Amino acid sequence: MSTSFDTALMKITPRPLPVMACGAGSFLWDEAGKRYLDFIQGWAVNSLGHAAPEVSAALAEQAARLVTPSPALHNRPQLELAELLVAGSDFAQVHFANSGAEANEAAVKLARKWGQLHRAGAAEILTTDGAFHGRTLAMMAASGKPNWDTMFPPRAPGFRRVPFGDLDATAAAIGPQTVALMLEPIQGEAGVVVPPAGYLAGLRALADRHGLLLILDEIQTGVGRTGTFFGFEHEGVRPDLLTLGKGIGGGVPLSAVLATADAACFEFGEQGGTYNGNPLMCAVGNAVVSTVRDADFLAGVVARGVQMRIGLERLAECHSALEVRGRGLLWALRLRDPIAEQVVTQAMTAGLLINAARPDVLRFMPSLRVTAAEVQQMLAILGSVLQAVTAAEVQ
Ligand SMILES: *Cc1c(COP(=O)(O)O)cnc(C)c1O
Repeated sequence: MSTSFDTALMKITPRPLPVMACGAGSFLWDEAGKRYLDFIQGWAVNSLGHAAPEVSAALAEQAARLVTPSPALHNRPQLELAELLVAGSDFAQVHFANSGAEANEAAVKLARKWGQLHRAGAAEILTTDGAFHGRTLAMMAASGKPNWDTMFPPRAPGFRRVPFGDLDATAAAIGPQTVALMLEPIQGEAGVVVPPAGYLAGLRALADRHGLLLILDEIQTGVGRTGTFFGFEHEGVRPDLLTLGKGIGGGVPLSAVLATADAACFEFGEQGGTYNGNPLMCAVGNAVVSTVRDADFLAGVVARGVQMRIGLERLAECHSALEVRGRGLLWALRLRDPIAEQVVTQAMTAGLLINAARPDVLRFMPSLRVTAAEVQQMLAILGSVLQAVTAAEVQ
């Protein structure tokens, strides 16, 4: 849908015509004044919704005080956010970065360093089919998206894939060069794919038996998205390394890798980045994490999640959709036919933003503060759009 007004932008993704102008909570407005109920939220990024008062206040206050001293100098928000993340978990240390891919790269570096220290240089990371770990060259090799291995050859070495959810295949792929297992506890970009019960515990047992690190990419599932602060809490399994991104910044570029004392093996000079741990983003991170890591807040996520599941299951029945899957406020509806793009386009016309994660899968990632009325409104709009699109298909 490229038109003359966007010719100065590289071709990254075909964007619809409206230019987004402002947002508040669960709503976005374009420059023409049209309002959208937003169940994408910047791709599960605005955990507290658009223009959240905590985020705006943290940005304004910190911007007026100190934006960037230098990554080689301490700043208070970074110290506070590291303490906050470590205090509520089994992790010992944190390193901050600016994007999810960058945090995952840091986790892979830590695993390879750990392999040098403890596993005679073993460096291979087992990842999973359908995985999404980001778009740097190494993370494209770690991901399991169709065509990604051949897009920008040569493919970065050191990653080998196994089927997601398959413990036997994982066990069979482990060799002397394997140093870590890396995966998302729920695959987000693949269309909210939830693995079988016991999968994470099985991977933890495999890692322990073979002396491997377990790396969880919680860039999409972390920071309250599934109803617990970390997604892995549902499984009672402890990873050695964990990455956060998206929701931790509440809309600003902030990511983190968290490590147990054993896995936090960087020495001076091995990792860095100009904007890593800058006070402006860490101040926002502090506001987001302290808001989300509250029992009442998380109870709200769980309650809205139950409402989403029941509502989507009802819609699935009416429209003979195949499956509703997800947890907390990360959901997908698998349709019988590959009509997700049409549904997304018509929903946007009707004032609702949702995502087509696959040709036959719709994905929902609302603000963690979405209200019961907003969920109801989303379900109503989606119901009528599904009705219209499937009626058009039949003709
Ligand atoms: C979005 C995402 C990433 C990549 O994050 P960026 O900030 O886009 O680099 C990595 N892993 C998962 C699970 C994601 O959802």
